Amino acid sequence: MSHSDPSCIFCKIVAGQIPSRKAYEDEEILVFHDINPWAPVHLLIIPKTHIVSLAHVQPEHQALLGRMMLLMNKLAVEHGCNPYPDGGFRIVSNTGREGGQEVHHLHFHLMGGPRPWARG
Ligand code: 5GP
Ligand code: ZN
Repeated sequence: MSHSDPSCIFCKIVAGQIPSRKAYEDEEILVFHDINPWAPVHLLIIPKTHIVSLAHVQPEHQALLGRMMLLMNKLAVEHGCNPYPDGGFRIVSNTGREGGQEVHHLHFHLMGGPRPWARG
């Protein structure tokens, strides 16, 4: 079941209340470009439903998480990452305050493209 938090910035992006540069969308998943990219390719992969973080995932989310993982390589290559093994990409999911999480809606950063990167 889909769940939304009206005060959550990523739920507002899912709802179209805040604009984003979309890279992929299906019924359950939205992918858009990070507004402050660390790398030539910097995508955010999010579930449309409001899950707070990886500390909050449940067995019912297993298929959704698997689908997100299975999308990553295709998204990377389609959006400008060079292919594995000379290219590749980095996946990061900051979780909680000490994990550096600023937006409390589960997201995977997908970063890649030719070095050097702005950060990371
Ligand atoms: P976190 O630190 O929570 O892992 O990362 C949140 C990410 O969301 C940051 O990289 C930040 O640049 C990005 N971000 C925050 N607000 C917006 C927004 O309104 N639009 C887009 N496209 N990215 C955002
Ligand atoms: Zn949310």
